[in-house]
Amino acid sequence: MTDWDNANGPKINRRGKVYIIGAGSGATDLLTVRASRILAESDVVFCDALVNPEVTSLATRAKVISVGKRCGHASTAQRFINRSLVGAASRYEKVVRLKGGDPMIFGRAQEEIDALKAANIPFEVIPGITAALAASADLGVSLTKRGVSRSVVFVTPRMGDNEPINNWVPPESMKATLVIYMAAKQSVLIRKALLNAGYKSATPAVFVENASLSNRHVFPTTIARIDEAAMQLGHGPAILLIGEVCTSIAYQLDAALFDQGSLTSLAY
Ligand code: SAH
Repeated sequence: MTDWDNANGPKINRRGKVYIIGAGSGATDLLTVRASRILAESDVVFCDALVNPEVTSLATRAKVISVGKRCGHASTAQRFINRSLVGAASRYEKVVRLKGGDPMIFGRAQEEIDALKAANIPFEVIPGITAALAASADLGVSLTKRGVSRSVVFVTPRMGDNEPINNWVPPESMKATLVIYMAAKQSVLIRKALLNAGYKSATPAVFVENASLSNRHVFPTTIARIDEAAMQLGHGPAILLIGEVCTSIAYQLDAALFDQGSLTSLAY
């Protein structure tokens, strides 16, 4: 089935378990204790592109196989990954599927879980810190706030290849905090869609690039100017937060975070 599956050597007929692990948004020490333990005990790790190599290096006795998918980069088909996980479970005791952030948020975990269930293979999901929460922590901005925002929406305008075009802006989201994943290359589309949906152009927004890492950057802006902010981004993963909870960011950057030297600010 795969090079790796056809590897020579004795086939071991024991049935393993697959651990779908969230590696978190970057910083290794934000990994859960459970994730670190399973990684250290694992026999084989199938790893995504966004996972920090420091996290993968905790799997000291495992064979590490990169199955990374990032837009614009070589991708490994999802079906191939599903088959590889199933194949690995008949060969190894502890199989890890390591994904960036939390596996259950924009991580295609469900397809892998369904494949494992269909093959009757035991699995466990170990959560990780999703980018929205890493960004919120970096900013010192709560995604919910009394009297301002009672809900948070995680959304992406990106669609799968054969998905029908639909309106991705959640209805009634204007009072919520909107967290937009995979937003960096879609800022024009996002601006237009939000303005069409009735958002005010002065609504505060902020891009956080490389959340939780020492090279993180913060770009406060407004909906009207998110294209300009997007152009300032580097090549790291970036997430876009929108809503009134972001109002305080410019102030906070000046007052405290900017001093740390790792944050960049754009004028509102
Ligand atoms: N499962 C992941 C999301 C995968 S989709 C999670 O829970 O975080 C990939 C998108 O996540 C990126 O395009 C970006 O929008 C966001 N992302 C992942 N890591 C990030 C980071 N360190 N900083 C900012 N955004 C990040």
